[in-house]
Amino acid sequence: MAVDLHLHTTVSDGTLTPTELIAMAASRGLSAVSVTDHDSFGGIDEAAAAAFEYQIEFITGVELSAYYRGQDVHVLGYFVDHHDRVLNERLTYLRESRELRARKIVDKLSETGANISWPDVEKYAQGEAIGRPHIAQALLDNGVVGNISQAFNEYLGRDGPAYVPKYVLDLVDIFDVIHGAGGRASLAHPNHWSVDRKVMEKLKRRGLDAIEVWHIDHSEEDTRIYTEMANELGLLLTGGSDCHGTRKKHGIVIGTLDIPDEIIEPLKTRADEIRVEHKQ
Ligand code: AMP
Ligand code: ZN
Ligand code: FE
Ligand code: FE
Repeated sequence: MAVDLHLHTTVSDGTLTPTELIAMAASRGLSAVSVTDHDSFGGIDEAAAAAFEYQIEFITGVELSAYYRGQDVHVLGYFVDHHDRVLNERLTYLRESRELRARKIVDKLSETGANISWPDVEKYAQGEAIGRPHIAQALLDNGVVGNISQAFNEYLGRDGPAYVPKYVLDLVDIFDVIHGAGGRASLAHPNHWSVDRKVMEKLKRRGLDAIEVWHIDHSEEDTRIYTEMANELGLLLTGGSDCHGTRKKHGIVIGTLDIPDEIIEPLKTRADEIRVEHKQ
């Protein structure tokens, strides 16, 4: 049976509520899912309850960002205890920083003549972790841009006039806090930046447990290359569609990738091992 371990809800920058997302997972016949909102566990309890109703296995997840070698690198944490104090302290700080940053972006936008107000943005950021996609949506809604990509290309992207870097954790710190919370760390959509075997090996030494080999932006070739890399380096495999509801160009892609359920057991086993290690 198929699984999907990379999903966003309205708690971060997805457009489906946790309940809507799980209902969609059920209608697409998934046997297991993980909700991996950016910097928040706000959707976990609702999603887990809905998954229980539909008899879908639910894995607690989260997506965290780091800067590594000048690039924006994302890490997925699986089987974490979402009540872990240290991890939650980090997430609270990250969300507060996101809001300060979003306000700075709105200020910068008005300096460039792209006027949107804070309430315009808040209308879309009803969850816990505000991000550039919410601001892009406000720009689109106000007719400043014609589509979301244009918002990133002309204003919000790295080279845009309203770019403000996001406060992020150190990559090794991310591995440590995920392990501290009893979970396992997977490198999200590795084809978004240049990560060769050598870099991957280094990340493994620092604490990386898995590679996301199935992803909506991966070609079959990417999946093959990263699967081979993971097998050679002794890393586990994860996969997910990275569904953001209708906010991203691919649309509602949950369950469209045929990711085998065999990937779950090794992840779970490793997560159990780390829990024992941390208790000792
Ligand atoms: P943030 O976490 O606020 O920096 O926003 C990052 C989010 O913006 C990611 O989830 C990306 O999917 C999305 N994003 C980044 N670049 C683009 C782009 N060029 N077009 C559309 N979405 C983007
Ligand atoms: Zn996102
Ligand atoms: Fe990501
Ligand atoms: Fe994601």
